[in-house]
Amino acid sequence: MSKLCVSITEPDATAVLDTMKSLPKEVDIAEIRLDCIPGEYRQIKEKLRAICENRDRPVIVTNRPVKIGEGCCNPKRLILLKDAAMMGAEYVDIELESLPRLSLAELPTQTIVSYHNYENTPQDLERIYRQCRYSDADIVKIATMATDISDSARMLEFQRTHPHDAPALIAICMGEEGLATRILAPKFGGYLSFASPYDEKAAAPGQIQWREMLELYRFKSINKNTDIYGVAADPVSHSMSPEIHNAAFARTGENAVYLPLKVKDPATFLDAFQQLGTKGLSITIPHKEAMITMMDEIDEFAERAGALNTVNIINGRRLGYNTDISAALGALQKGMDKKGISKLADCKVLLIGAGGAGRALACGLSDSAGKLIIANRTRKRAEKLAEETGGQACGLDEMEGYRPDIIINTTSVGMAPNTNLTPIPENMLEHRPLVMDAVYNPIETRLLRSARKMRCVTVSGFDWFIRQATEQFRIWTGKEPPQKLMAEVLRTKLTQG
Ligand code: NAP
Repeated sequence: MSKLCVSITEPDATAVLDTMKSLPKEVDIAEIRLDCIPGEYRQIKEKLRAICENRDRPVIVTNRPVKIGEGCCNPKRLILLKDAAMMGAEYVDIELESLPRLSLAELPTQTIVSYHNYENTPQDLERIYRQCRYSDADIVKIATMATDISDSARMLEFQRTHPHDAPALIAICMGEEGLATRILAPKFGGYLSFASPYDEKAAAPGQIQWREMLELYRFKSINKNTDIYGVAADPVSHSMSPEIHNAAFARTGENAVYLPLKVKDPATFLDAFQQLGTKGLSITIPHKEAMITMMDEIDEFAERAGALNTVNIINGRRLGYNTDISAALGALQKGMDKKGISKLADCKVLLIGAGGAGRALACGLSDSAGKLIIANRTRKRAEKLAEETGGQACGLDEMEGYRPDIIINTTSVGMAPNTNLTPIPENMLEHRPLVMDAVYNPIETRLLRSARKMRCVTVSGFDWFIRQATEQFRIWTGKEPPQKLMAEVLRTKLTQG
């Protein structure tokens, strides 16, 4: 089982030990970064002694030269590593390029020989591994910068082919695109993975906090049978889907993990991650349209919209779905039931917005709405969408004349931080239409608040969002999703940040 190691970059022994002792027992190892401790050789040696004598778990002692780490260059850097071994440190980490100046035979402990590349991930990882293993290291560490997520896939494949070799391997890609290599180390046989003690104390680019590793991604439950899921997007760091889906997998006992995947080129990404055994993906901005061409089969809604948000990979076949549309229609239907509208065909629907969400709804409603009016700030976009979906286009200044039965906002107006804005004048609510808002942050937008005050039936973007996520869960697992839990997780995330 892969170990979890937290890198401690505190500047003195007390702070190092306090941090170490604050870590839960599931953190197997603490890495002590001596290069972050300032002082003369004797001072640092005394601090090292205090740390080794009072440590509460195994330690890796590392002392990077300035060009690798960001701390100060310790005097007698390599002598301090020998001292650490003599003081009983369980592991000592020495960079490949420092090897000529220090024989591993002089270190009576487990040795990690490490290669770092802060620029990119070289093609020939095997050559680097061989260079490191010639040194008789117990463990080889290769840490390179991922410039694209396909670097992570390559690194994970490399890890998979060297799982239990002697020496053992730690294969990590740094940067946001490298996150998968940190989380999936146990699936591919990595010796250990690194995490930070606090958010702001990452010792390397892309390192995340131990709490996220253990609680969100359930690092200790990941094994070779764990199924990989994720959200492919760019940017991806704001996505709430990892929280929602990982909580759902945990609750239903799925051996699965869901990752944020920063994807620039969807074609190379999909090939590489399918090769790794990925089972399912959420697809979001900007890849919803491009992914369509890479599917073996797509559902009716994806076909209609020319965009998908869900991929399910079964026996090598890529199946694409658009749960944005089915979820929006499901949420709308609930509102219609509440208002006592039996048929959309009897309704005049005003759809505001002609972006991604507007297109999804226009495609979903094109067959069923009695009359579909599409209003958009950029009138040309509304006209194009109306032409494709059989609706009627108008500018935002023309909306007031329509008196619709249903108003659906799919613009981002009212979304945080601009929560004081609303896409329509309040007098458009006087005849009490059904009002639905795509915006889910905040949960109650100014539009929904005004509509509720006017005693309109309302449907929130929150309800829509949760439905698209629960449908994804159903598609991937064939199981009933824990809807209440998924909604709770999203609500907490939206209200507490
Ligand atoms: P998008 O493709 O970027 O489209 C943005 C839309 O908002 C366009 O119609 C744009 O008009 C309009 N717009 C932006 N700023 C405006 C302003 N100041 N005044 C008037 N119109 C403005 O974005 P999207 O993906 O459709 O997302 C739109 C909103 O829906 C976001 O808040 C998103 O979070 C939400 N959403 C929710 C769900 C859900 O599950 N609940 C799903 C998808 C999206 P122009 O064409 O003139 O630029």
